[in-house]
Amino acid sequence: MTLAVYACREEYSRGRRFAEPPPDYRGEYQRDRDRIVHSAAFRRLEYKTQVFINHEGDLFRTRLTHSLEVAQIARTLARALALNEDLAEAIALAHDLGHTPFGHAGQDALDACMKPYGGFEHNAQSLRVVDELEDKYAAFRGLNLTFETREGILKHCSLKRARELGDVGERFLQRRQPGPEAQLANVADEIAYNNHDVDDGLRAHLLSIEALRAVPLFAQHHDQVLRRHRDLLPKQVRHETVRRMINAQVADLVQATRARLRRLKPRHPDDIRAQARPVVGFSAEMQQRNQELKRFLRERLYRHPQVYRVMVKAKRVVSELFAALDGDPRLLPLEFFRQAQQAEDAHGARGRARVVADYIAGMTDRYALDEYDRLFDPRRSR
Ligand code: MG
Repeated sequence: MTLAVYACREEYSRGRRFAEPPPDYRGEYQRDRDRIVHSAAFRRLEYKTQVFINHEGDLFRTRLTHSLEVAQIARTLARALALNEDLAEAIALAHDLGHTPFGHAGQDALDACMKPYGGFEHNAQSLRVVDELEDKYAAFRGLNLTFETREGILKHCSLKRARELGDVGERFLQRRQPGPEAQLANVADEIAYNNHDVDDGLRAHLLSIEALRAVPLFAQHHDQVLRRHRDLLPKQVRHETVRRMINAQVADLVQATRARLRRLKPRHPDDIRAQARPVVGFSAEMQQRNQELKRFLRERLYRHPQVYRVMVKAKRVVSELFAALDGDPRLLPLEFFRQAQQAEDAHGARGRARVVADYIAGMTDRYALDEYDRLFDPRRSR
């Protein structure tokens, strides 16, 4: 497969933070992907919420299956656009490594707890996981990934945090874009979650076909399915519609991006980074369709009373865990307690709170619930 001139090639790479000899049988971005897959944070994604809490059922997406779907879509897009498939895959698999338990409810609760100490951003936390927290290699801290994978993981961050982040933070200060594979992984994430949330929402009976027909993208493809097929089971209608929606979005993205590339004629990935706006993206029309779908999901699924009640409980678990552990770090596991003490000596309360946040962010849903019981149920001795 020949890469386009504007793809991130290994020879253009800004390299790793700690120099290492090149891999023998793999490319540099393949090595990044493999390190991500071998990380503990990646394995924990299996028990972290995407929208539905883990114990609500075995058929819903978890953050792990979400990440795999993102990687799949990203690879298709990369291949179609002659971009670097290995890099796009590595970014996709790593993009959610820093997510807290209980999805966005958990992230919001932890951010609120961390407000006095600089806040908590799950995206910056994904970078922190690969740069610092996965600490099992002899020669360096973190996974020592290439600049390009790290650039792609950090999708957004506050200017304040960007200043602290060095090389990968620069683009936010200079208002530049990330490389094309990072842009692609970002849209692949959106395509994956919008569509699988429709699927999961219908499966959970929180959304109905009738209501979803108010969303033009859904109605268009639902009509197509009904026109072409008779006597389908509801699950077949659901799947046939969702797969067509994904296909339509992927096809639109490839065509709209190719058109932009033809106009721009980039000769190097830096020509794409230098743009004020992303080059990889939907057409204006599909962007509109996508917004309608997102708005619908926000109002009807993410704020559905049944989801909301669970999320309120999840926030309470995270906030109370934080208050207890930050208030008395002796309650932390020994390794974290020592880290919290060292961080407090070096940076005061801010340092201690960051260690507590790292501990909580690393928890799976079920671990958080169990830790909550261990901490607050007087009948439990351990
Ligand atoms: Mg995601």
